[in-house]
Amino acid sequence: MPIFFDTHAHLNYPDYAPDLADVVARAQAAGITKIISIGTSLDSSERAIRLAERFPNVFAAVGWHPTEALNSPSDLRPALREFAKHPKVVAIGETGLDHHHLPSEKPEFTAADDTSYKQKQAEIFRQQMEVAAEFNLNCIIHQRASFDDTIRQMKPFIGKTRGVFHCFGETVERMKQVFEIGSLVSFTGIVTFKNAQNVRDAVAVAPPDKFMLETDCPYLAPVPYRGKRCEPAYVKEISEVIAQTRNCLLEELSAATCKTAMEFFPKLA
Ligand SMILES: [Zn+2]
Repeated sequence: MPIFFDTHAHLNYPDYAPDLADVVARAQAAGITKIISIGTSLDSSERAIRLAERFPNVFAAVGWHPTEALNSPSDLRPALREFAKHPKVVAIGETGLDHHHLPSEKPEFTAADDTSYKQKQAEIFRQQMEVAAEFNLNCIIHQRASFDDTIRQMKPFIGKTRGVFHCFGETVERMKQVFEIGSLVSFTGIVTFKNAQNVRDAVAVAPPDKFMLETDCPYLAPVPYRGKRCEPAYVKEISEVIAQTRNCLLEELSAATCKTAMEFFPKLA
């Protein structure tokens, strides 16, 4: 059976509290042999580490999500440095920028609130890339409606840390910009959605050493589970559509994506 990794799962979310051990076992049975559980705050990062300690095939990424920026401590670095020392912490994130929803959408906020929200996102993004560089780790990048700003903010870190633009759903042109700064992309179950031809176009032309697979569970369950709770086992369905789209064997996709992940997350070994 070809094996795959789920490089972006939120196993630390309450959605999995009732049956987490079964979820992890089903992934194993489906050939999904490594799972990276992603933190979105210090609390959830700590929960991701506890899961990594509990399950041999689960690893952790620690970080603070940009949409939660206003709740972040002013300096995230001391806590992240403590986490980053852990042998199963394989990346920093998820971090990045998200300008999709801004405070001024609500009547009680103004453009000035948007500016300070964006500034706080940029500040904690920079802090997280600093810690990643210090620990020779790479970053899990969340980007929404902020592509150019994200690329711009990552450029000073070229040669120090790289990113994986997770849940990639941008154009082929933008994918090339990601590769130009040394970063990678990863694809979710969106690739199986009827209306996602743009994502399949990117999947079709991505070089084999430049992308990884992920679920972003509990979100984005692939067809035929669309709309249900997603889980790491469903990387199998994602891998089948990606192999079809690229006209390659599942074995080739397995070898390429696992090798890419092992290089990008050296502590995944
Ligand atoms: Zn995520």
